[in-house]
Amino acid sequence: MNIILFGPPGSGKGTQAKRLVAERGWVQLSTGDMLRAAKAAGTELGQRVAAIIDAGELVSDEIVIELIRERLPEAEAAGGAIFDGFPRTVAQAEALDALLGERDSQVDAVVELKVIDEELIQRLVKRAEEEGRPDDTEEVIRNRLKVYYDQTAPLIPYFDEQGKLKAVDGMGSMDEVAASIAAALDKK
Ligand code: UDP
Ligand code: MG
Repeated sequence: MNIILFGPPGSGKGTQAKRLVAERGWVQLSTGDMLRAAKAAGTELGQRVAAIIDAGELVSDEIVIELIRERLPEAEAAGGAIFDGFPRTVAQAEALDALLGERDSQVDAVVELKVIDEELIQRLVKRAEEEGRPDDTEEVIRNRLKVYYDQTAPLIPYFDEQGKLKAVDGMGSMDEVAASIAAALDKK
């Protein structure tokens, strides 16, 4: 099973991905987490992407596609992948379809977490206080939202045309949203 958790920054993708990992044993593939880990470790990749992440811009398609490609065997062995924060552009989505197709696999469902902007900004500002992520300043948060609407939201019609899009209300409690995701995934 390959699931994309889709939605703007702060919509709860990472939180809900971790719940799916715990409940279903699938593997969370978060390109954001991978890029942050590379940055924290100071690898060559980390140094290349640091300024891009800190500004809230998108790392190149080539880099994130390669990060995902490397992790597909592990997800396959676990019986499923939860793509969290990837794909972020139509080119990335096409590349993911091709990579999975080569492995006789496919994206099974795309769960879109719907949350209004005011709530997103509130959540991210709160997370900044708790976790101190350098890209959680108000200025960068606003840019990340702009990048989302400009470059990532065009994926919604892409997934919809494939018949894979399942919209879920992301404004409830963590348990409520988890229940809505489970219902969307298990509905035939
Ligand atoms: N990022 C990116 N491509 C990805 C994932 C992350 O360019 O596929 C960069 C981008 O700069 C983004 C940051 O990493 O703003 C944080 O991404 P993450 O998905 O962790 O943020 P979230 O949307 O969950 O707040
Ligand atoms: Mg995230």
